[in-house]
Amino acid sequence: MVNDTTRLLGLDGLAADRVELDSDGVPVVGLSTADEQARCCPDCGVRAQRVKGWVTTRPRDLPVAGRATRLRWRKRRWHCDQAGCPRRTFTEHVAQVPARARLTARLRQAAGAAVADAGRTIVQAARDHGLSWPVVAAAFTAHAEQVLPDEPDPVTVLGIDEVRRGKPRWTFDEATQSWTTTADRWHVGFCDLTDGQGLLAQIEGRTSSAVTDWLRQRPAAWRKQIEAVAIDMCTVFKAAVREALPHAILVVDHFHVVQLANRAVTEVRRRMTATHRGRRGRASDPEWQLRNRLTRSAARMHARHVDRLVDTLTALPTRIGAPILAAWNAKEDLLDLLATARTHPDREAISRLLHRFYTRCATTDLPELQRLATTIETWWPQILAFLHTGITNAGSEGTNRVIKTIARDAYGFRNPENQRLRTRAATTRRHRGHLNPV
Ligand SMILES: [Zn+2]
Repeated sequence: MVNDTTRLLGLDGLAADRVELDSDGVPVVGLSTADEQARCCPDCGVRAQRVKGWVTTRPRDLPVAGRATRLRWRKRRWHCDQAGCPRRTFTEHVAQVPARARLTARLRQAAGAAVADAGRTIVQAARDHGLSWPVVAAAFTAHAEQVLPDEPDPVTVLGIDEVRRGKPRWTFDEATQSWTTTADRWHVGFCDLTDGQGLLAQIEGRTSSAVTDWLRQRPAAWRKQIEAVAIDMCTVFKAAVREALPHAILVVDHFHVVQLANRAVTEVRRRMTATHRGRRGRASDPEWQLRNRLTRSAARMHARHVDRLVDTLTALPTRIGAPILAAWNAKEDLLDLLATARTHPDREAISRLLHRFYTRCATTDLPELQRLATTIETWWPQILAFLHTGITNAGSEGTNRVIKTIARDAYGFRNPENQRLRTRAATTRRHRGHLNPV
């Protein structure tokens, strides 16, 4: 007969005989075996007949009705008398409490899920469940390997992005009298940009072969599904995608184009201050005061502020103000060009805006702008693909934010494999349904 306590406890194969309170007032559940399978030999599977003795095991379990509860299972040790079976004796075991287990399977699973699905740190999950760090770390790995898919679902737009793992380290080389990088570790992430699968995988290193290797390991049908790949302006990724996914359109992320243009503006401003004032910028320099406004998009600024910016630059000595204004104008030309994305721009409109940008760069003798124009020229097919498709790598960038948060919460990782697993568990939570309010 199954009693109420057994039903409430819900440990399959175990029956609750009685509940007593110990001296601290903690409920102690006395358990007995209620599953005939428990006395089958784990090696030969034959039901044992001869009892060797009794043992008591006290596996830890989840709280019952919010209260910490202790379990005490009195179970038998059996002889296996089967001829040819290597096992002589064994104790009873059920799925929730395997032989020699000190925790119930559901406690282990809950601790693993707290890390993989609820975003807890291992330290916090260990504290919450009264377990040790290594136990929770192992529980997390087991849980993550179970819930994370081996192969990603089909992807139409793939994002490839790199993220630095830990801090770079340098050592001073006495022989050459120079600093060399001893550790500069990177992870390359593959991200689903359309269907929200999150981070599909992370690999170590950022070489072209590392990227092609991962892509080649996927089934041919999966690779064929990919229509476009978004990357930042990185020749390594470009080469890898060309090789492994020759049919896919390469799109360069506009965010990185803007970043590059802003860097050119800042470099011009710094160089003008340095050459003509003979020092670094100060709070009293008008161009220094404009440093943040110069890298903002004029389209997102109040017209009054844009006017004042242009006025301030014009009022500066020409040798300082004019080059900065030219760089700012070139950047704005580029932004105007990028703004045509998703508006179904015609070829003429695009070429007119592009021509304006190139002319602006060519008419100055600023090496910063010439370098910018060269880079835009190199990546023009991929930028044009962005204008037509509007695909951005913002999904990957969002993932990178999660990756960094995870690494900070964990105070860094020693084991890159653990880091990748933790990152993937965290970045696929939405897709696995753990971030839905229902
Ligand atoms: Zn046996």
